Amino acid sequence: MEPEAVNLPKTLTLEKVQDVQHWTETLFSFRTTRPSAFRFRSGEFIMLGLLKNGKPLLRAYSVASPHWDDGLNFYSIKVQDGPLTSLLQHIKPTDEILIGKKPTGTLVIDNLIPAKRLFLLSTGTGIAPFASLIRDPDTYDKFDRIILTHTCRNAKELRYGEHLLDTLDQDPLVGEFARDRIKYFASCTREDYVNSGRITTLMESKELFEKLSIEDLNSETDAIMICGSMGMIDDVRKIIENVGFVEGSNATPASYVIEKAFAE
Ligand SMILES: Cc1cc2nc3c(=O)[nH]c(=O)nc-3n(C[C@H](O)[C@H](O)[C@H](O)COP(=O)(O)OP(=O)(O)OC[C@H]3O[C@@H](n4cnc5c(N)ncnc54)[C@H](O)[C@@H]3O)c2cc1C
Repeated sequence: MEPEAVNLPKTLTLEKVQDVQHWTETLFSFRTTRPSAFRFRSGEFIMLGLLKNGKPLLRAYSVASPHWDDGLNFYSIKVQDGPLTSLLQHIKPTDEILIGKKPTGTLVIDNLIPAKRLFLLSTGTGIAPFASLIRDPDTYDKFDRIILTHTCRNAKELRYGEHLLDTLDQDPLVGEFARDRIKYFASCTREDYVNSGRITTLMESKELFEKLSIEDLNSETDAIMICGSMGMIDDVRKIIENVGFVEGSNATPASYVIEKAFAE
């Protein structure tokens, strides 16, 4: 369908797909052009989608690139009978996709009070907002150390995150210093791997801290962002609230913030 023929709501724009990478049979990432006047804060999400029968079919997506990047990166699940991703998984360069112009979300550094260390705890596609934040120089201005955890069922589902970390030193803005300031911890729940188990189990057993050779959580000096399933968020929340962390929001910054990686 020609874009001119569609009467798009003012909140949406059609952007061109520039690159698509398939990581597994259920995960892929893609890059699009960026609307010229579009501004967002690293860690936010937008509505994204396709035209189906001339009508927008939209879902929430975290922007996986930082606010300064001239393109927009996304990391996506492929749900075989999912209304959007059953179609979206077939996009290729030069295709057009809908991008919502109203970014929002809680996983922004402004919602956290100053701290020495920032923990970014993710499962599955919940790593997407953190892919944005770890390439933003402001994150390193505000926090001395970043600890990124990513938990998936299988090792192959960790590839996107591993690639992010492996290529971080090539980043034009944070490449020189980011890799020395980030510790990355990946674990699998359904396959033998160097670290096995849920992040909550690894936090409670202290394995996370021992393996990274870092001190245990301290609500006086740490801040935390969490992005994963509702179950994972609730379980982490219990652990960290027990040791004094307080949830922040756009209205009231505090020591931790959450965002669900998908609606269940
Ligand atoms: C704030 C927010 C940010 C999001 N950011 C992303 C993102 O960056 N990348 C992304 O792939 N999705 C993200 N999602 C989920 C996304 O909005 C869609 O649900 C997803 O693209 C599937 O769309 P669908 O129409 O194919 O299936 P839907 O009808 O939306 O989902 C069908 C079912 O698939 C499961 N599901 C959906 N998304 C996921 C997921 N990401 N991981 C595991 N299971 C899932 C759920 O059980 C859901 O009920 C986000 C959701 C929210 C609320």
